[in-house]
Amino acid sequence: MDQVDICIVGGGMAGASVAFHVAPEARVLLLEREPHVGYHSTGRSAALYHRQYGSPEVRALTGASESFFSSPPAGFAAVLSARGSLVVGRADQHEALRAHEALAVASNQTLTRLSQPELLALVPALRPEAAAWGLYDSLAMDMDVDSLLQGYLKSARRHGARVLTGQEIRAIRRDGSRWQVQTAEFNVAADIVVNAAGAWADEVAGLAGIAPLHLVPYRRTAFTFETPETISAAHWPMVADAEEQFYFKPDAGRILGSLSEEVASPPCDVQPEDLDVALAVDRIEATVNFPIKRVLRAWAGLRTFATDRNPVSGFEESAPGFYWHAALGGYGIQTSAALGAYAGATLTGSGLPGALSAQGLRAEQLAPGRLR
Ligand SMILES: Cc1cc2nc3c(=O)[nH]c(=O)nc-3n(C[C@H](O)[C@H](O)[C@H](O)COP(=O)(O)OP(=O)(O)OC[C@H]3O[C@@H](n4cnc5c(N)ncnc54)[C@H](O)[C@@H]3O)c2cc1C
Repeated sequence: MDQVDICIVGGGMAGASVAFHVAPEARVLLLEREPHVGYHSTGRSAALYHRQYGSPEVRALTGASESFFSSPPAGFAAVLSARGSLVVGRADQHEALRAHEALAVASNQTLTRLSQPELLALVPALRPEAAAWGLYDSLAMDMDVDSLLQGYLKSARRHGARVLTGQEIRAIRRDGSRWQVQTAEFNVAADIVVNAAGAWADEVAGLAGIAPLHLVPYRRTAFTFETPETISAAHWPMVADAEEQFYFKPDAGRILGSLSEEVASPPCDVQPEDLDVALAVDRIEATVNFPIKRVLRAWAGLRTFATDRNPVSGFEESAPGFYWHAALGGYGIQTSAALGAYAGATLTGSGLPGALSAQGLRAEQLAPGRLR
């Protein structure tokens, strides 16, 4: 029987960022079911850091993560690189564009209005009829997701954390003052279990006899394609439709596209639907002046939301030592630094990190109890 202070379930961005923050203070074991970390949502994202995305709470967490990402600690590779983001709309999408502007103002953020000639100067392949005007955010960045994930885990390991893959947690039960966590191969006793199981977070809570928070995983599809050789897209910003009907952005010499869909799904190794890819191709082709000749690769991932679309990070009131760190929605990469720091501080008893209180965020806004 192994004994640890903290056993983390899940080797995605959530589990890795928590491991990073608690490893210097505690004996940590992270268990991932799949043969490698980052296999599910974390390895399937669009890799964007976008402060003007999500609820005010998500925006606060994203903003509070920026200093970590822009100058990460020793041992991390560079995380951010310039990208920019553009929301475009046809003449009939005026209201939708204005709603984006209003949300930015309400969150004390700035979006720059671009006229049609300015839009076409930035992304010459836009069809004029698809881009009557637009809103530009120069601060959106690309993220190197894999090096961030590996950076968190390497540092956690340096502080003694163990990260084991191919270990599905099958049972969790209370035994006196500790949890007994069981995989097919071994048992481990832990003072605290951190549930960072992404789309499976309700199921993992169920293993411990804890009622679900009714988190819902939603499928989202992405795919890559090439532009014609005559078009140089490397410096385009991400381009999104005013009504979130699609987006596309340069990605390692190709273009990554998505339908931006949200389709409820059970937790699973979700696969792309041909129809979603075809629909996105159609909508992107109606926005740019070149055909998408071939989809090179398509995939889908799950974005798991709580009913209020804010993340959950906090102790379960009904079960001592059971900590939820889940429901990261479409923001789990870009919020991971601040949310991981928050979990680390809560788990080790050191209180809300300054960067988060400075953003006006309160523990109740993240606590699982708000969803009961
Ligand atoms: C198409 C798409 C685009 C996205 N774009 C962005 C973006 O641009 N920016 C951004 O910030 N976010 C983005 N996201 C969201 C982001 O990917 C997620 O919020 C984030 O990856 C969630 O991380 P996680 O660790 O909670 O989940 P996951 O990465 O899914 O990790 C959970 C892990 O728990 C493991 N697990 C589950 N049950 C068990 C068990 N019983 N035993 C052991 N292990 C278990 C799973 O195997 C899994 O590896 C996007 C998502 C998608 C799908």
